[in-house]
Parts: sequence; structure tokens; C-alpha cells
Amino acid sequence: MRVLVTGGAGYVGSVCAAELLSLGHEVVVLDDLSTGNRDAVPEGARFIEGNLLDDSAAALEGVDAVIHCAARSLVGESVEQPAEYWQGNVVSTLALLEAMRSAGVRNIVFSSTAATYGEPEQVPITEDMPTRPTNTYGATKLAIDQAITSYCVAYGFAATSLRYFNVAGAHLGHGENRVVETHLIPLVLQVAAGHREEIKVFGDNWPTPDGTCVRDYIHVGDLADAHVLALESNEPGVHRIFNLGSGEGFSVQEVIDVCREVTGHEIPASLAPRRAGDPATLIASSALAENELGWKPKRTELRTVVADAWDFLGSLGDAAHSARR
Ligand code: UDP
Repeated sequence: MRVLVTGGAGYVGSVCAAELLSLGHEVVVLDDLSTGNRDAVPEGARFIEGNLLDDSAAALEGVDAVIHCAARSLVGESVEQPAEYWQGNVVSTLALLEAMRSAGVRNIVFSSTAATYGEPEQVPITEDMPTRPTNTYGATKLAIDQAITSYCVAYGFAATSLRYFNVAGAHLGHGENRVVETHLIPLVLQVAAGHREEIKVFGDNWPTPDGTCVRDYIHVGDLADAHVLALESNEPGVHRIFNLGSGEGFSVQEVIDVCREVTGHEIPASLAPRRAGDPATLIASSALAENELGWKPKRTELRTVVADAWDFLGSLGDAAHSARR
């Protein structure tokens, strides 16, 4: 297949592109480099620097299917700058869907998010739970999911949305490398590497076993597997929605402890106030994806996730470290 990966210069997109290439598919990457890195686009992929609004049609030439990862994805920012999120996520995706319709490309896998569910009534979160996003980011991804459903019903699109929370680790030489980093595992590892002074633990009085927040950390390689499986099994007229997770929750404190073990560094940590909008525990149920997609996460040990992320951090040049804010 020839696959267009939007956002293929970003974290999840670059890993999906590399995975597709490793399986013998052809890859076109469309990315405006607003948050992605040119260096992250895998060798062998055709790269188009451009945006979904203006350049989708050109990027779709000769393409059979689309993995759509391009998005604004910071929860806090989405609340402060909603216009950027409605434009950058919803309006842009509608342009992509229209370009696909014109080009007769109807197979799409969409990187959605478990933030579409909002504050869960219970965990693990299953697909039948209510979707009540608590921030603009989740609301925009839900709106896109709904648009995709209607494109499947009316226009015969074949689609899968994958909803996941905390992705981490590295795969095929691609990992997390953001100028502005807010995610726990890369931040803790940057402390271990001496690029930051300490990690701040956002609250230790949550209703969890050790008082710090619990999340499930899915390995980005497992996530890429799910994207490819979905692409290969999409059916016309059907929009499947699957939650993905590693199956097990780890607390912030446990993550820091595993990072200390894996890196052999002390990793200073200090207590900070709770971060606005954080739920105590988020764990996704992947049962439906396992049953219907045949997806099974292979790298469920937190140690593996952390060790792969640590190796990737070590592979980055000085320029990446000095560009960080
Ligand atoms: N977290 C933390 N310190 C940090 C960054 C994150 O304690 O510097 C916590 C955060 O409150 C959450 C967990 O780590 O409970 C995972 O946060 P992350 O931003 O990685 O992902 P999120 O769960 O927000 O999608």
C-alpha cells in the first residue's frame, strides 16, 4: 500500500511511518513542522512540508490509505487557545476528509484520544462509556470522530479511530523529541540525563495506593502495530472505535522508581501542587481491540517502555537538548 501519514514528523506519526516502511509499504508524510522535526521523518518516506488545508490534495496523489496523526495535542493549551484547536484539528481534518473524498481515498485510521471520554466514572474505560470531554482537545477529537462516522455511513469511508492516553517509549529509532516537553516519562529521563534539575510530582494526596496519579503507559511500538492492523482490516461503511492501553496502571512514583532503576541515576524529585484537570486514575480497556482487531500489546513492561525511551534520549544530538525549553 501507499500510505499518507499526516503528522509524520511528530512522535506517533514518525513511528507509524517507520513501521509501515519496515513492513514494505510506501509512505508519504505531510507535516507543517509546527511541532514536528524534519529529522524525525523516516528515511525512505516522501516528505511534503505543508498543511492539511492547502496540501492534502497533492499529498493524496497515488495514495491508498491515510493514517491521520497531525494534530494539536496539549490539553492545557487547548483550554487557553481553543481557536487554534478547532481550526488546527477540526477544520483541518474536514479539509483532509474532503480531499480524500475527491481523490476516492476512503481508508483512514485516526489517532483519536481517550480524552474524548472526559473524567471516567470507572476504570478501565470501555468504548461504551459516555463521551464527555473536559477540555477543548478532547472535544475536537470527538468532533472529528463524529465526522468520520458520518463519512463512513454516507460516503463509504472505511475507518478506525484509536483512543489512547499515555504513549511512551521509542521504536525503530524514533521517539519523543519535543521543544516543549510536558509528559512525565521524557521529563523524568531528562532529569536522569542531567538536562533538568528535578522532576515535580503533581500531588501526592490523590485517592490512589501511593497518593500519586495512576496512568497506563502504552509502548509506541504497540501503538504503531494497532494503526497498521486497523488500516489493513478497515471495511467500507464501518467506523470502528477502539481504546488502547497497556492493561496496567502505574503511579507517578512508580514511574520515577522504574526510571531510577533503568538509568542508574538518582533523579531528584519534589512535591508540587496538583495540575489542573488531572484525573486520579486513567486506564483504558483494550479488550475490544484485542477481540476485534486481534491486537495484543507486546511491550507491556514499564521497564521496557522506559529503557527504550532512555536509549532514544541518548541517541539525540546536543542540538536537540539545547533547543528544548
Ligand atoms: N506529571 C507529574 N510531573 C510532571 C509531568 C506529569 O507529576 O512534570 C504527572 C501528571 O500529573 C499525570 C502523569 O504524570 O498524573 C502523566 O502526565 P503526562 O503529562 O505524561 O500525561 P497525561 O496523563 O496528562 O496525558
